[in-house]
Amino acid sequence: MVMMSAVSLAACGSRSSETKASVAEVPAAEVAAAEFNADSAYAYVARQTEFGPRVPGTDAWRACGGWLADKLKELGVENVTTQRGEAATCDGTRIPLMNISGQIRPDAGRRVLLLAHWDSRPWADHDGDAANRRKPIDGANDGASGVGVILEIARALKGQADGPGVDILFVDGEDYGPHADGGGDDGDCWALGTQYWLAEPTLDLGAVRAAILLDMVGGRDARFHKEYFSNLYAREVVDKVWKAAKAAGYGDRFDSAVGGAITDDHVYFLREGVAAIDIIESANPTTGSFNPTWHTLDDNISNIDRATLGAVGETVIRALRDI
Ligand SMILES: [Zn+2]
Repeated sequence: MVMMSAVSLAACGSRSSETKASVAEVPAAEVAAAEFNADSAYAYVARQTEFGPRVPGTDAWRACGGWLADKLKELGVENVTTQRGEAATCDGTRIPLMNISGQIRPDAGRRVLLLAHWDSRPWADHDGDAANRRKPIDGANDGASGVGVILEIARALKGQADGPGVDILFVDGEDYGPHADGGGDDGDCWALGTQYWLAEPTLDLGAVRAAILLDMVGGRDARFHKEYFSNLYAREVVDKVWKAAKAAGYGDRFDSAVGGAITDDHVYFLREGVAAIDIIESANPTTGSFNPTWHTLDDNISNIDRATLGAVGETVIRALRDI
């Protein structure tokens, strides 16, 4: 994903305002708390990085894609589907894609889509050492963290008697946007897997009340500001998630200020009229934008913060009650 200026957002539709305002007011005490385990989420992140960089078309990517589908099934997720496709990157490379989806409580009418990209960037083009800038990254934070949190949410929700239906989507080809040293960006160079999937969705988007994208949710001491497009077009969902964070004791992690405007998978869902938000670290105090490890070889498991994974996972599970 990339940070963009806030003015170039005209393409985003406004149909997200159709999001229903009704909220199921279930007293918290009556809802069995699903236990999110940060250590388990961390293990899922680590497992993905052990395959190596999940760059589309590589053996590591193929193996991890198979593992993700198997893991979802093992966790009791239903209707697990691997959609295979192909896309052209902005430098003309053709890459294969695997978008992996599944459902928890497929019969529930009230549904929330949780998504994350599972591919990792082919180039560490923001690495401090120029010699590393053509090497692929582990993507522990940028990719694996969101997937790891969603896998753990699926594990935690397993066996819960009721609650919302949850759709899960791991999208491919998010991070093949132009190398920092070359190539223009026409604005649609990122989120290739999402663009492909939305043309032929494997889930019923009409049943989705809200979509929550988790991207870079494992940074050390990360705090989350309201992403610009999310806040503009799906504010109701943003507000519910930030309220849930506060209720879960993570008000310090979820800042009420608006952060960066990010070209990420959620933007394409917004264009389709889905109330989609991005939980992403976009106002890091050191960089003023993304985590310092962003698109560097330092984006590896040693820089993943279990407490951050826990704060995000617990918050999302709590928010699922209200959306
Ligand atoms: Zn990235």
